[in-house]
Amino acid sequence: MKKRMIIAIDGPAGAGKSTIAKSLAEVLGYTYIDSGAMYRAITLKIIKSGFSIKDIDNIIDMTLKTKIDFRNNNIFLDDEEVTLQIRSDIINANVSDVSAIPELRSIMVKMQRQISKDCSIVMDGRDVGTVIFPDADIKLFITASVDARANRRYLEIASKNTNTNMNDIKNSIQYRDNIDLNRKASPLKMANDAILIDTTNKSIDEVLEFALCIVKDKERE
Ligand code: C5P
Repeated sequence: MKKRMIIAIDGPAGAGKSTIAKSLAEVLGYTYIDSGAMYRAITLKIIKSGFSIKDIDNIIDMTLKTKIDFRNNNIFLDDEEVTLQIRSDIINANVSDVSAIPELRSIMVKMQRQISKDCSIVMDGRDVGTVIFPDADIKLFITASVDARANRRYLEIASKNTNTNMNDIKNSIQYRDNIDLNRKASPLKMANDAILIDTTNKSIDEVLEFALCIVKDKERE
């Protein structure tokens, strides 16, 4: 029987992690889990509940009673589909502050491990290779310059005919990078045994091909 494989992909916002993670999962027949979407979902619930970010006891109590799951790459928060809602500006503006709460992170890590229990997975996020799955079979750290990341987001949003502004996008990415890199609880950092991929001047296909070679090598071991 084939061994259960865990592929951890970490890196900053907009580096192409989720595109690569989704494609890898599809090609390999693994389950894709977007750990950032889970933080976004809980942020949505906190905003809707009206709790202040400082109201840690209520936030923790609420998180413990929350159900988050994925069905066909859509995310459900207490059985309500929230795939689009969690991508809004208000979530972008608040998710990193919510994700910096250490007590909340420990609950999320348990949830993330539980969701991945029985299958081979590709999970992307900020602490997948360092905290959630320190023994992952393959760890990739995908990054790109802030300008390249902002430009990709800009093109993605503009292609949907939505009004957008490059400066706002860049500021929002830098705001989140800053909190994610500097928080005390599991900050964004590359695991010692991760493979670094800088996508600044690379196409998605090039990165995917490279990542697939790494997986094939590992499967042969
Ligand atoms: O991946 P995405 O950009 O959607 O993640 C949103 C936010 O969730 C990140 O900016 C970060 O604050 C938080 N996050 C995290 N740990 C993860 C995944 C995401 O702290 N494993």
